Amino acid sequence: MWIGTDDTDSLQGGCTTYVATELILKFMENGYDLIGFPRLVRLNPNIPWKTRGNGAICLKVGKGGGKRIRIGEAEGNEIVSYSRMKSQGDIDEIVSMVDDVISQHIRKDADAAFVVSSRKFPYALYRKAVREIVEIEEIKKFLDENGIAHKYYRKGRGLIGASAAISWRPVDRTYELIAYGSSRWIDKESVMEMDRKCSSTFNNYDYRNDYIAILPKAKSPVFYGIRGDDAEELVKAREMLRKAEEERWIIFETNQGTDEHLQRKKIGEIKPYESVIVRGRVKKEPKDIKGGHVIFSIYDGEEMECAAYEPTKEFREVVRELKEGDEIVVYGGVREKPFTINIEKMEVKKLADVYEKIANPLCIKCGKRMKSMGRGKGYRCQRCGARANENEAVYKRIKRKIKPGFYEVPVIARRHLAKPLKRMAS
Ligand SMILES: [Zn+2]
Repeated sequence: MWIGTDDTDSLQGGCTTYVATELILKFMENGYDLIGFPRLVRLNPNIPWKTRGNGAICLKVGKGGGKRIRIGEAEGNEIVSYSRMKSQGDIDEIVSMVDDVISQHIRKDADAAFVVSSRKFPYALYRKAVREIVEIEEIKKFLDENGIAHKYYRKGRGLIGASAAISWRPVDRTYELIAYGSSRWIDKESVMEMDRKCSSTFNNYDYRNDYIAILPKAKSPVFYGIRGDDAEELVKAREMLRKAEEERWIIFETNQGTDEHLQRKKIGEIKPYESVIVRGRVKKEPKDIKGGHVIFSIYDGEEMECAAYEPTKEFREVVRELKEGDEIVVYGGVREKPFTINIEKMEVKKLADVYEKIANPLCIKCGKRMKSMGRGKGYRCQRCGARANENEAVYKRIKRKIKPGFYEVPVIARRHLAKPLKRMAS
């Protein structure tokens, strides 16, 4: 049986993944098994009304068979998962267990919902929910027409994520080991050591900004989360950390770090709240605006503004080196106001030749340097009055400080879905 839940967290704290662990424990107590990894499915990160992170959960439960693996621990007990399902279990029993757990943990302002189904949902639903805006009516209609068990506690917005989580298929996937607990000390050196030794992990520590990225950004029951490509290495990574004892930890299979939110577009096709990959030439050169943000524009027949905001730190240094005519591919989320691409990474395809003037034109008759008659107005010899155009001055090609290739925002500024360059190489 597939169970999808969403919005069991709220902006005031709480966490959908924690409620997932509560669900798993409830199932285990009642003789149900977890099949495969629990799934943490991130959806469109640009939706204005999203809760932090916009992550939904999908669990597969039933009577398990096949290979049994340890995927976590809770209050000293193992959390295990099975590789295949022998039987589905009773849907009414499952629905009532899910309802019990969610009702108990729901926050006042959370638009929690869950969906229980014996069948998986079409992949297209996930694809839309990670890239665009899905209307709640669309989902309610789908659930009603197919007779799928579901419940929501307020307006039902959580049904979108709950259904989309069930429809995700791990074509590309990563894992996150998430730990919970109230004592929170962690030794930074051990995080750095783990980062260096566990090569399949990513986004652990930002060396330049001295930022421990495995710790949650906001108030949360999450103690830390280690992301990586290899679930087994995550278990080793956890053991390398010097830290307070966790109350529980569990490994989720996830679409984090996969770039599945991005779609290739021409500038004219870009809509707000999407995330896009778009190719163009730099038109307006980068400039710094108030707040430390750097903005510029690209052109492919139409023009679009792009921004590297202050939180992207040293990434702005690369962006500032862009010159008119550079060919680049920008990856990022689209804001509505101002209508801008918030860059997550970029590929410099081809650098334009950029020249700087080193001397005014020489007068052929007099052998003297001419004088400028003002910006863009050409030159004149002060002795004989001969004239020359702007392009007759002496120019030198300047050496560019950036090279073609990929550049990404630092670990401190990375979004859940953005694929790190480290993963793109493999
Ligand atoms: Zn002259």
